[in-house]
Amino acid sequence: MVNFKMLFESTRGKADIVPSAHAIARGLADDGGLFVPQSFPSVRLVDIKAMVGKSYVERAADVMGRYLTDFTGDELMECVEGAYRTGKFDSLKIAPLREVNYNTAVLELWHGLTAAFKDMALQIMPRLLTKSMAKTGALYKTAILVATSGDTGKAALEGFADVPGTDIIVFYPADGVSEIQKRQMATQKGKNVSVFGVKGNFDDIQKGVKDIFSDKEMAERIAKDGYAFSSANSINFGRLVPQIAYYFSAYADAIEKGFAKPGELLNFVVPTGNFGNILAGYYAKEMGLPAARLICASNSNNILTDFINTGVYDRRREFYRTMSPSMDILISSNLERLLYLVTGKKPERVRSFMEKLAEDGVYEINSEELEKVHGGFFAAWVDELETKETIGRIFSDYGYLMDPHTAVAWRSLEKYRLLTGDDTCSIVLSTASPYKFCDSVLSAIERDWKEKDGAEPMELLRELSQKTGTKAPLNLLALERLPVIHTGVIEKEDMAQAVLQSLNIKE
Ligand SMILES: *Cc1c(COP(=O)(O)O)cnc(C)c1O
Repeated sequence: MVNFKMLFESTRGKADIVPSAHAIARGLADDGGLFVPQSFPSVRLVDIKAMVGKSYVERAADVMGRYLTDFTGDELMECVEGAYRTGKFDSLKIAPLREVNYNTAVLELWHGLTAAFKDMALQIMPRLLTKSMAKTGALYKTAILVATSGDTGKAALEGFADVPGTDIIVFYPADGVSEIQKRQMATQKGKNVSVFGVKGNFDDIQKGVKDIFSDKEMAERIAKDGYAFSSANSINFGRLVPQIAYYFSAYADAIEKGFAKPGELLNFVVPTGNFGNILAGYYAKEMGLPAARLICASNSNNILTDFINTGVYDRRREFYRTMSPSMDILISSNLERLLYLVTGKKPERVRSFMEKLAEDGVYEINSEELEKVHGGFFAAWVDELETKETIGRIFSDYGYLMDPHTAVAWRSLEKYRLLTGDDTCSIVLSTASPYKFCDSVLSAIERDWKEKDGAEPMELLRELSQKTGTKAPLNLLALERLPVIHTGVIEKEDMAQAVLQSLNIKE
């Protein structure tokens, strides 16, 4: 391992092959593709057993170091400790595993500052990025653009606020995020942060950001002021690599708790939007994680369920706004990394799928490729009623309170078990605190609950706490006392203008 150097290539095959610092500093490859590792480092069962009893910091450094071979041990440790050992998570385990019943455990990924799983990656990614910029000798300042369906925005703001050499600009759908999410972003402090509500849905905004990224004129204009664009979205390998770590950590905890015997294959169930979280699970499986199936859970925006079941990715469908808004996505950008693998690393094929998607809104993989997908994944989707029913039922059966995203995953697991008869021990990834979605959760646990008109989001936090005897995350309670700073709502056509303004760049 010592002299092994991991290199990264583009899914579209027309960009330079680079070490991790370059992949992270650039975000997207020059040919428009995503950076992927040339091979998977292996983690053997003895390595996982050695993680038992270790801290999250040690586990994360071990797993991430296998990809970031151009970072020194000290550089890596500084990043990992800065993220996971400085009191920014309200659990010492960072990502605790909770056994809910004899064959189902929940991996809680929401103990960070913003109460959603994005903190797991976004507390460390800015540190990896600034180190990467220094290592690659980049002289420019980085303008981070973020399109968010709710959780990424706040987690990126917390991660990048006042990080030297960076500016961060976040766009969210003005009517597509929860009240708490809006309040979290609107109260963000930091000299280098800007936040805008946009009239449009997440896909509109993601496209807006992509258009700005690929606009050469824009790039030249900001370069004159010493800026280059980069992304904190999960297309950046620096977002993906920290996520691989918690799959191994969860498995080590499963051994520690006696939930799994060493080597026993477990299912992992992932509430999926942009396909980042579950792809990290697939990478972990390829590296040697004892995983049977990765269960891809979707809400009514069930494009991934259809894709995994049929091999046809068809975005020509209605977009639904659901109570699990972080999964209201029709274009899952990280799927491109899976396509690269299941085509047997054929960049021409990946390019043709992406072109078809852009032009016709649909593409289809062949049967051999689909078979490879089925080797790793099972997919199910869950509607709004089922989501609510699950939250209420699991709370009343086990006293375990979960948010709507987690409920979509839990119910998808139940569907998998019903359909296949396979009751393998499974780990459900929980991606948000139930307190981020108080109104949905309250209406799920109380049949007659009606949101009072104009109810303050903070009142709902207290009500949920009272009704369930659980505690709200302190950072959410603190929102009440913070002044609202960012109130701008713009048209989607004006995003580029907003970027120039935020960076103080004049005509
Ligand atoms: C971002 C997010 C997801 C989706 O994760 P992907 O990596 O985009 O698939 C699911 N749940 C919550 C709460 C999220 O914030």
